[in-house]
Amino acid sequence: MKYTIALVKGDGIGPDIVTEAVKVLGKVGKKYGHEFDFVETLAGGSAIDKYGIPLPDETVKKCKEADSVLLGAVGGPKWDNVESSKRPEKALLGLRAQLGLFSNLRPAVMYPELSSACPLKESLIPEGLDILVVRELTGGIYFGEKKRTETGAYDVMSYERSEIERVVRRAFDFAMLRRKKLTSVDKANVLETSRLWREVVSEVSKDYPSVEVNNLYVDNAAMQLVINPSQFDVIVTENMFGDILSDEASMITGSIGMLASASLGQSNVGLYEPIHGSAPDIAGKNIANPIATILSAAMMLRYSFSLKNEAEAIENAVKKAIQDGYRTKDICKDGDKLLGTTEMGDVIASYI
Ligand code: NAD
Repeated sequence: MKYTIALVKGDGIGPDIVTEAVKVLGKVGKKYGHEFDFVETLAGGSAIDKYGIPLPDETVKKCKEADSVLLGAVGGPKWDNVESSKRPEKALLGLRAQLGLFSNLRPAVMYPELSSACPLKESLIPEGLDILVVRELTGGIYFGEKKRTETGAYDVMSYERSEIERVVRRAFDFAMLRRKKLTSVDKANVLETSRLWREVVSEVSKDYPSVEVNNLYVDNAAMQLVINPSQFDVIVTENMFGDILSDEASMITGSIGMLASASLGQSNVGLYEPIHGSAPDIAGKNIANPIATILSAAMMLRYSFSLKNEAEAIENAVKKAIQDGYRTKDICKDGDKLLGTTEMGDVIASYI
């Protein structure tokens, strides 16, 4: 089968890490008999340099025409002073909107060999942390009416039932593929949107009788993530709560260079990217950790192309590389085998 993947390498370490994901996908294609066609296109700072804007129409067109999009990261100090409507990050918001991506998936997985990177004290370090945060991405307070008055300001948080239902349904579908446990996070004791959210969760849950559902207030969820993170399987929540909680869950794993993400809409086309930024401090030095991007490519195989075995082949190759002691600088301790970005990509590709 042939798949077209739009590659937005982006800025900083973007080109370094996307190159390694392409290498690993190439190996998967060879082994399993798929053809991955890569179409490079510019967004973020590199697009500002060439076209004067962060998200040219040409880029949107190429991404829409592709079967999926793999993105490195955008931004950097070079573009910090451009006017706010032209900042590199606008490319991400624009792409999400143009592709209709309403759900954001952030797995927080802790590898036992890297548990010392967990910032929690030893007695709280979870065994086998594997959480999937599903965040609503296109509604809520970030997109509601906002206004500054003479004496104050407001931001409106609003949700349509249909906006809640589509992301909640998706989270239930993921829970069915995992440990069948769904935690819905809201603030239903205070917010009307949260009361609607809870109602919709309860209705949708009737279609998934085998999934255990738990509702938590967001303040409690933030606390539970620190004191007992292993209790969670899938967490589903609205945009702002998800923004905050997915960062909190990631940080518990302690390894920003290892965490992938996916943004999905109604169709199979998704946007896959590491959760970290463009790390301009280490760009082009062959020291960036490519694993988050490689695992994002695995998510693409699973969610956009339904290639479960191929996705698992990548995830297992990463696990094996970690078990065998291979590390990039960001996760390396005494006794580990230190590798550069390219060499880590080589090892993972060789384990496919
Ligand atoms: P960052 O994630 O780029 O870097 C934070 C720290 O983590 C740095 O010390 C960096 O060296 C390290 N780091 C990040 N990724 C790494 C990797 N793969 N391997 C090894 N170390 C890694 O965050 P920042 O410094 O706040 O932001 C830098 C730029 O990235 C800014 O311009 C910001 O706007 C942009 N940014 C982009 C995205 C995105 O494209 N999705 C997300 C966040 C930040």
